[in-house]
Amino acid sequence: MKKNLLLTPGPTHIPVEICQALGKPIIHHRTPQFQEALKEVIEGLQYVFQTKNDIYILASSGTGGMEAAVCNFLSAGDKVITVEGGKFGERWTELCKAYGLIPEVITIEWGKAVKAEQIAELLQKNNDVKAVFVTLCETSTGVTTDIKAIADVVKETDAILIVDAVSGLGVVDMQTDNWAVDVAVSASHKGFMLPPGVAFVAVNQKAAALMEKATLPRYYFDLRKSKKVFSKPDTPFTPAIGIIVALNESLRIIKEEGLEKRFAHFARLAEATRKAAKALGLSLLADEACISNALTAIKLPEGIDGGKLVKLMRDTYGISVAGGQAQLKGKIIRIAHMGCIDEYDILTGISCLEKVLKKLGHSFKLGVGVATAQEFFNGEE
Ligand code: PMP
Repeated sequence: MKKNLLLTPGPTHIPVEICQALGKPIIHHRTPQFQEALKEVIEGLQYVFQTKNDIYILASSGTGGMEAAVCNFLSAGDKVITVEGGKFGERWTELCKAYGLIPEVITIEWGKAVKAEQIAELLQKNNDVKAVFVTLCETSTGVTTDIKAIADVVKETDAILIVDAVSGLGVVDMQTDNWAVDVAVSASHKGFMLPPGVAFVAVNQKAAALMEKATLPRYYFDLRKSKKVFSKPDTPFTPAIGIIVALNESLRIIKEEGLEKRFAHFARLAEATRKAAKALGLSLLADEACISNALTAIKLPEGIDGGKLVKLMRDTYGISVAGGQAQLKGKIIRIAHMGCIDEYDILTGISCLEKVLKKLGHSFKLGVGVATAQEFFNGEE
């Protein structure tokens, strides 16, 4: 039997305590026991989102949360701003178009981040913009967006700021309330170390007011239904009971360690990965200034087939990393440092990457990536 180390940016490895919680017999959701679990979950989520506002829980993948963020606050024909600097930024545009919204698209070179000034300029030119959609951590490129700077611009207008924090939440800092993020979306299978199946949507007062006026069609994702029963707390439809119950275990782990400490931990893993990649003669896709601590996108040398490399690492050695998406298919690999990944997972991943790179003909001194990461880790202690 082969072990499978997940260094993928979702789903991420599930710690044993959470596996045990997931294995518990199911309970019914209209019971005091589940209500108790849900109450605790909401409080824990508020800690991770850094908000005091409502967080609605949906049984869906992250994209379902994004869809809810589109269809609950807007009306057909509304003008919005989207930022396309990767696959998930593009998803905002696609969703907006599917609902008959009019996106003003800011196109960014993959590997770079949108600047707050670009948003400010577009908002100035289009004072009828109703919402700005951005991505905290663009998982296809390994870029983190400066959400605070963008929020500082958007909060001065009537538009709302909607942030896809599916892969960044709990991994890099996002202060939903302090920064005035109006709607934040995340999901269970990245920073929360759970299987996919649950999405979260945090909504502040400014956005909640729009929820009542919005005329876009919605049913399952109608957050007014969630809002109505939120204070009990309850969910309008059958929730993903098993994942919600296990989420309390995940939140306990996160709270016990503390957000600040976790952010520093992921930053350290990311820095070691970046240093190791450079030591192997590889370069990074994301610009230094906006590089993400949630995952590292590494460019592969000409002649190395990324698809083959990912397959060899996974199928021969049991180490899963992600390949490139869309135009980056075959050209990069992405190593995640989110969830419960630690120093030795990163060292193992780098060591396997070295082995396979060597096999595929890349020239470097075997061991130099691992040694560089080790030296960095030791120096940091
Ligand atoms: N946004 C980002 C930034 C993501 O990384 C992902 C998942 N890779 C999604 C949205 C979509 O989530 P899901 O695949 O769970 O629908």
